[in-house]
Amino acid sequence: MTHKKALKHNIFKTISQSANELQLDSYVIGGFVRDYFLERGDAKDIDVVAVGSGIELAQQVSKNLPTNPKVQIFKTYGTAMLRYDDIEVEFVGARKESYNEDSRNPIVENGTLQDDQNRRDFTINALALSLNPSNFGELLDPFKGIEDLDKGIIRTPLDPNITYSDDPLRMMRAIRFATQLNFKIEEQSLKAITDNKDRIKIITKERIVTELNKILESDKPSIGFKLLEKTGLLDYILPELTALKGIDEKEGQRHKDNFYHTLEVVDNICKTTDNLWLRWAALLHDIGKAPTKKFSKKVGWTFHAHEFVGSKMVYKLFKRLKMPLNDKMKFVQKMVLMSSRPIVLASEVTDSAVRRLVFDAGEHVDDLMTLCEADITTKNPKKFNKYHNNFKLVRDKIVEVEERDRVRNFQPPVSGEEIMKTFNLKPSKEIGIIKEAIKEAILEGDIPNEYDAAHQFMIEKGKALGLNVVNV
Ligand code: ATP
Repeated sequence: MTHKKALKHNIFKTISQSANELQLDSYVIGGFVRDYFLERGDAKDIDVVAVGSGIELAQQVSKNLPTNPKVQIFKTYGTAMLRYDDIEVEFVGARKESYNEDSRNPIVENGTLQDDQNRRDFTINALALSLNPSNFGELLDPFKGIEDLDKGIIRTPLDPNITYSDDPLRMMRAIRFATQLNFKIEEQSLKAITDNKDRIKIITKERIVTELNKILESDKPSIGFKLLEKTGLLDYILPELTALKGIDEKEGQRHKDNFYHTLEVVDNICKTTDNLWLRWAALLHDIGKAPTKKFSKKVGWTFHAHEFVGSKMVYKLFKRLKMPLNDKMKFVQKMVLMSSRPIVLASEVTDSAVRRLVFDAGEHVDDLMTLCEADITTKNPKKFNKYHNNFKLVRDKIVEVEERDRVRNFQPPVSGEEIMKTFNLKPSKEIGIIKEAIKEAILEGDIPNEYDAAHQFMIEKGKALGLNVVNV
């Protein structure tokens, strides 16, 4: 049985013809083939193996394509890439790899298709479709990858111990694929990951974060984080999360397991947002709970100021993982810092408290509400409905307050300059006091967020401070 249907795009005919001109064999391999059998939609990344030079094949393909696309060559890796339509094709010569202890960069020799399939990480990623005219579309599946696809299993083609030790990134990839595809990692593989976990140290932080992001971008990231925890990898990568594990009991008082709670929150938020950074915020929203945990006889378990401590930890964590220390990081910090604010509100929704929330959260107030709704993990249906209904009230109130008071991106209705002019002041602390008083009066609802009212309030406040009105 051939699978010509997978190769219906005209690029495959061109590759086949070009390889034939160079008298070499070529195959599509890896993710494209896997995703075809999984019916995951048409993949836009195609990996082609040439039994010979991948670079020469890429150049020949470019010559034969109507657009003659530019060929990008990566000499060190012996690979080449070109774009055609919206497709990215990567070419590599079939190779045989061997590894030494300290590096994930292998010693590479030319090899056969079988050698190349041996070096692939998982059986489901070693599937190849022939592009050769004699058997165009034929599946080459030496490790029963199709069977593993059907059963939903992640398995390495060769001894898992060697596979993971050679390139420990594969441990992250195994867990990432298990999460994305909702597959099981085969038992020996899982054991080998556990046994090789400390090898993760030789992998760059950037690559680890790429995999973490892919886990977080999945429908149910808890699958991946539970596997990371079970294998011991999480301790190396995100010890802040493993520190949340466990339930303590003292004098009959227990707190919830904040690790599993966090994973529930992450899964919840993935149902309502694709924003990767909001998903990160959900993952990290409780990390301040481990260092702030205390027990007191009077109130039981407390995590005083965990939001503040957590938001500081976000910076250190991003820095350690070499993640961007930019506005994305600040967004995550802000979400963590404010993560309990709407909860306090949900018991009593007052105008002024909502106005303050909108003022402090600014443009991110909707994201904050999304986070807080995801944070509701109670198994008591009555409470669950009550909290959700309260947050709905908060959301309605936000809209109402917004329409009336426009405090989301608050601009003071009276400027510092105008205050100086009115009272003939040089730059001084009185100006700050008056400005702050105007803002407070607006947030409290004492005056509307309008120029006339604020101007009048300024005059009264200035007088109360003993200032004379010079210009009105
Ligand atoms: P996705 O595009 O979802 O990441 P993919 O399988 O296409 O999936 P790539 O990283 O593009 O992932 O890799 C392409 C192919 O190269 C894989 O299918 C696999 O055969 C092989 N591969 C990638 N990384 C490794 C690795 N670390 N060890 C062995 N083989 C690998």
